[in-house]
Amino acid sequence: MAGAAPRFAADAMLARLARWLRVLGWDTTFEPGLADPELVFLANEQRRILLTRDRHLLRELKPHRAHEVRSDAPLEQLRDLVLSLRLEPPAELFTRCTVCNTLLSEPLSQEQRDELLPPDVRALPGPARRCPGCGRLYWQGSHARRMRAALERTLSGWLPS
Ligand SMILES: [Zn+2]
Repeated sequence: MAGAAPRFAADAMLARLARWLRVLGWDTTFEPGLADPELVFLANEQRRILLTRDRHLLRELKPHRAHEVRSDAPLEQLRDLVLSLRLEPPAELFTRCTVCNTLLSEPLSQEQRDELLPPDVRALPGPARRCPGCGRLYWQGSHARRMRAALERTLSGWLPS
């Protein structure tokens, strides 16, 4: 699946997978309040790949594009998805808000860092960004490093170093 970045619609059971997909920069809707027919309608209309563990949904509602999730573990779910759709790794992690799916801003200037970031993280190397949707701040701290390490363990050799 080379070329355009994939877009996904995750069902209500897949909150953690949706979060990993957003870490990788992929546009992923997660609206656990939607009924199945609404979820399928939204995925079809927005040309998203529907991610679900629900075989009944796949059989009965026949989404145009779908991937059946089989594992219980979010990182295994991610690996299975990447391998079966042959997804290409992003150039950079953490370009999309993991909470609200909005693309993050350009990296903050030094002035913005001083104004917005907690004092102990202002001096960290690497870009810090802000979500224009919900205001959440992202920086390259230990949390981001742990998430990157988990991705590297899960998909060995896949991410560019
Ligand atoms: Zn956000």
